[in-house]
Amino acid sequence: MKYIGAHVSAAGGVAEAPARAHAIGATAFALFTKNQRQWRAKPLDPQQVELFKRRCAAYGYGPRQILPHDSYLINLGHPDDEKWQKSLDAFIDELQRCEQLGIHMLNFHPGSHLREISESACLARIAHAINRAHEATEFVIAVLENTAGQGSNVGYRFEQLAEIINQVDDKDRVCVCIDTCHAYAAGYDLKNDYDGVMDALVNTIGTDKVLAFHVNDSKGALGSRVDRHHSLGEGEMGWEPFKRLMQDPRWDERPFILETIDPDRWPQEIAQLKQFMQNGNP
Ligand SMILES: [Zn+2]
Ligand SMILES: [Zn+2]
Repeated sequence: MKYIGAHVSAAGGVAEAPARAHAIGATAFALFTKNQRQWRAKPLDPQQVELFKRRCAAYGYGPRQILPHDSYLINLGHPDDEKWQKSLDAFIDELQRCEQLGIHMLNFHPGSHLREISESACLARIAHAINRAHEATEFVIAVLENTAGQGSNVGYRFEQLAEIINQVDDKDRVCVCIDTCHAYAAGYDLKNDYDGVMDALVNTIGTDKVLAFHVNDSKGALGSRVDRHHSLGEGEMGWEPFKRLMQDPRWDERPFILETIDPDRWPQEIAQLKQFMQNGNP
């Protein structure tokens, strides 16, 4: 069994997200727990927290089915100490919001070196930030997302994600989310070599460490390092890799989150993914 859903809006309050997910047939969902384009956020309203928990229970969304995304402003690999600290503070705030909501995972883009430090120095700063964030929180898992390698973003090679994990003290609380569009744009040919890419993933990160997927087709070509999502089947990747993914038993019990560009298509995309999953497991 896989959990399939989308990154739904939390407009009007976090408690609106589970109902929106349920309405599109989702068995998993992502959300922002605060405005993703602002540094500061009001603390969560206790009534919203209670309502969020109640609705997740009512609709059957458990800890493995909810994968929030952090703010785009945060850069845990920032070369400047002061700005790195600002990012870390915001990251800790996001993790604490998750814990208040009873959410067990937070997905984030590793960071960017801004062409001021080496990639490996940047990866070390990210690992250090995760260690600090772990000290400030209790149980939430930091979920590193692979990137397309656009600009100076790190995390576009599985080896880079592994390099971060290697430097994290509490390995139980760091895992990985694979974004299919990002992987493809970074040069991993999920379309023509699904098995090869998955072997590389399992060998560098390990099956147990891959906790989630973002399912997006790509407007950018293989290896273009351009991060532009497309609706499933409409981009460079086509449907085949998504069918393979849904029928791959190694990834059972994971959330598969759509971040595709047309929310009107989400119900159809979710239904199609569910159909692939069922056909693969008669
Ligand atoms: Zn993603
Ligand atoms: Zn993306």
